Amino acid sequence: MDKLRTVRGVNDLLAETLNNHNFVINKGLNISKKYCYSQIDTPIFEFSEIFTKPLGKTSDIVTKENYTFEDRSGDLLMLRPEGTSGVVRAFLNAGLTQDIPQRFSYFGPMFRYERPQKGRLRQFHQFGVELLGISSSMGDLEVISLANNFLKSLNLDNKIELKINSLGDTDSRLNYRKVLVDYLNDFKKELSEDSIKRLKENPLRILDSKNPSDQAILTKAPDVLNYLNEFSKDRFQEVCDGLNSLNIDHKVDKNLVRGLDYYCHTAFEFITDQLGSQGTVLAGGRYDGLSEILGGIKMPGVGWAAGIERLALMVNANYKNNPDLVLMGLSEKFNLDLLQMMDRLIKDGIKTEILYTGNVSKKLKRADKINAKFAIIIGEDEISQNIVNLKNLKTGFQQGIKLGDAINEIKSLLNINLE
Ligand code: ATP
Ligand code: MG
Repeated sequence: MDKLRTVRGVNDLLAETLNNHNFVINKGLNISKKYCYSQIDTPIFEFSEIFTKPLGKTSDIVTKENYTFEDRSGDLLMLRPEGTSGVVRAFLNAGLTQDIPQRFSYFGPMFRYERPQKGRLRQFHQFGVELLGISSSMGDLEVISLANNFLKSLNLDNKIELKINSLGDTDSRLNYRKVLVDYLNDFKKELSEDSIKRLKENPLRILDSKNPSDQAILTKAPDVLNYLNEFSKDRFQEVCDGLNSLNIDHKVDKNLVRGLDYYCHTAFEFITDQLGSQGTVLAGGRYDGLSEILGGIKMPGVGWAAGIERLALMVNANYKNNPDLVLMGLSEKFNLDLLQMMDRLIKDGIKTEILYTGNVSKKLKRADKINAKFAIIIGEDEISQNIVNLKNLKTGFQQGIKLGDAINEIKSLLNINLE
């Protein structure tokens, strides 16, 4: 290795980016708690088949995006590329099928071998929710409403629009599949290589193609909504009417299908035009077939996942970890006294950093650089008189007072500054 570097598309998260990530995650957790979703954390790697069975042999993730490895006992494992399969597996393992509905929220890293670019990474992070055990359109509406309120709490609702479609039930999908294959067969020569492969195995996925010549062909493709059976059509109408009642703006997009194979009925995406071609910030849908594919009982489910990196690019949490107070001694021999003092200061909620090295003028320069508001300086005299020297770094005012009084003064001045 000639240079110290991370793997392409796998980044360190430094303070500023991480603050934005945490801002997004905390808003997600807060709003999900209000909707009574419980947080769940599933493993970062699982047996490969937990992901390959539901995603299907022809999905991007299984054909070219996964990180798979054999461990020392020969088990085939995969770094998780998405959250839903793991959550449903955990739900089945925990024996929760008799105790439905269950509501889950999660966040964490996901791994896909993709071509890295802005908003597209190989290790990225998602925040997501899953609602298991509700088959009616109310489940779809609940998770979309949660997503909408999540984006609102990030102040992004006017920068993002909701697109929605229905894939219908199994009958409708099979029906549409035939019609779509007939249409696409006429353009076989112009389709991308990937799409030609999918024409046999999973033609619906072609609708999701990002290839420009595929997209041109798709503009005139038959509309899935025209091939839904009565039940699926009524169900989709309920979702659209429900969104209107909830005042959630949406557009029907006939080419919207989820990239993953286990979806049925409602599919939706929240999209922005502010992130170039990586515009989908949150995507989800209904996956009633997933539990059975994993070997469980039939169990309806609906949920979504949001790309934390993409949302973090659009928010500015503006959080700075600057200290309220710095502690310094006239020499290094006072450093342990300062650490003792720190115990008490943090109990009082004062953000404190100790400056261990250098002379006092160097320490004051550092305090200025990190934008500290107060300094406590101690030496032999202060220790013997049991006081501290408190300096207001904005006004320069300095006084020798008891630590308790210094704490009160800092707290009251900080409150005044906050107003
Ligand atoms: P895309 O069409 O952008 O590849 P996808 O259909 O593969 O997205 P999902 O599997 O639905 O995406 O994941 C949900 C969300 O996670 C996406 O809408 C996006 O915000 C985010 N996401 C997916 N892949 C990546 C990635 N490689 N890097 C960063 N964020 C991602
Ligand atoms: Mg993708």
